[in-house]
Amino acid sequence: MSAERLLTSSLRELAAALAEGRIRAEALAEAALERAQSLQERLNAFITLTPESALAAARAADERRRAGNVSLLSGIPLAHKDLFCTRGVRTTAASRMLAEFAPPYDAFVVERLAEAGAVSIGKTNLDEFAMGSANEHSHFGPCRNPWDTSRIAGGSSGGSAAAVAAGIVPVATGTDTGGSVRQPAAMCGVTGIKPSYGRVSRYGIIAYASSLDQAGVIARSAEDCALALTAIEGFDPRDSTSLDRPSEDHAAALAAADGRLDGLRLGLPREFFAVQGLDADVRRAVESAARIYESLGARLVDVSLPRAELAIPAYYVIAPAEASSNLARYDGVRYGYRAPDYVDLDDMYRKTRAQGFGDEVKRRILVGTYVLSHGYYDAYYLQAQKLRRLIAEDYRQAFDSCDLILAPTAPTTAWRLGEKDQDPVQEYLQDIYTIGANLAGLPALSHPCGFDSAGLPIGCQLIGPYLAETRLLLAAHAFQGKTDWHRRLPPL
Ligand code: GLN
Repeated sequence: MSAERLLTSSLRELAAALAEGRIRAEALAEAALERAQSLQERLNAFITLTPESALAAARAADERRRAGNVSLLSGIPLAHKDLFCTRGVRTTAASRMLAEFAPPYDAFVVERLAEAGAVSIGKTNLDEFAMGSANEHSHFGPCRNPWDTSRIAGGSSGGSAAAVAAGIVPVATGTDTGGSVRQPAAMCGVTGIKPSYGRVSRYGIIAYASSLDQAGVIARSAEDCALALTAIEGFDPRDSTSLDRPSEDHAAALAAADGRLDGLRLGLPREFFAVQGLDADVRRAVESAARIYESLGARLVDVSLPRAELAIPAYYVIAPAEASSNLARYDGVRYGYRAPDYVDLDDMYRKTRAQGFGDEVKRRILVGTYVLSHGYYDAYYLQAQKLRRLIAEDYRQAFDSCDLILAPTAPTTAWRLGEKDQDPVQEYLQDIYTIGANLAGLPALSHPCGFDSAGLPIGCQLIGPYLAETRLLLAAHAFQGKTDWHRRLPPL
């Protein structure tokens, strides 16, 4: 089996090939690096590639395997969104502000995956500080969609989704503050899961909006997501919101499943399907996904999320408010970029921030500072917090009559590069289906469920009650046992 062929295989298949000695981790890392390099100009999926450390880690994985006793992820190539701190490897958040920043430590997720023996080949492109839905707001240029390189890869974790879709790596990390794992997964035709808030440590993830940020994984299938998620869960005292409870073996639960979903109640929120901008092809694909779920034994039920459309206004107050506070640290003194010419301290702050941040980040800081300021705090920030509570309550009530919610991941498929980047509100509206789960802290995943008339992938979203990751993965795994959308490969 050639290394090239292996790069289009699932994580599970690669793990088997490594275990049976059909391939070495080093050859796999070489192949992944080669594919990443050869596609870089067309996709711009990576900000940094780390061939030396990747090959060293792969050789170490091969040695450990010879000595026996290795984990399933040992020798598996992967990539990290460039928002996860990596010791000694620059971590840019796709910002000029951090373009040369090399952190002194690894993020928890990076540490965990390295301990499991996975081999990081580099850092993937994203929207600056994870702010965006298209991966166009990157200091390093936009990431392009492997299915059609004139289109966006989705955002903010566009590079991770594109790298998986293009068969560069079988799995990549992402973060999801308002949809950034699920939406790019949908746009690129791969599977992505955002766990419950608190499930995975945020330690070492460059903060955007801390009460919403959560690490997740993107892979080709629910099964591969389960394998990776199992490896990154668990308590971490360095994140004060980390849940102190034993992690669950999602992968084992999937392995024991019989592929049926008898009795599972799938709720279809009527407000989601009444959204004006919902594309007809997307609606059709998600509705036929619902029927496939039905054929697996699930029961479809009508549910209501009455405040669904208020999620966008609430989110676009809360997220910028937290961002404005989190990004105050980039002052030219403590981290990263400092303007070269200035007359005094205030001038240095002003110039550093004016030059170091891109337009979208500045817009968020301005909005965030405004909604937190005296006189507007009650009118905007406090109102948004009240809405957040009500939206979470809507989800809680919906789960009285269903076990999982089924919805589109995004209202449209991938749009053309440049189509929405001058109109921020158009871009924000694309997040209508994903941000509710973040506001309510719920786990959610996106899996492929078809293609539109232009041949672009469509994502189907499942949202679960708090800590129901296994249930989500089991459902998507059963779906993928019956369909092959997730096996299709882009015409690269
Ligand atoms: N599109 C949303 C935003 O721009 C979500 C981004 C994210 O999840 N990081 O804020």
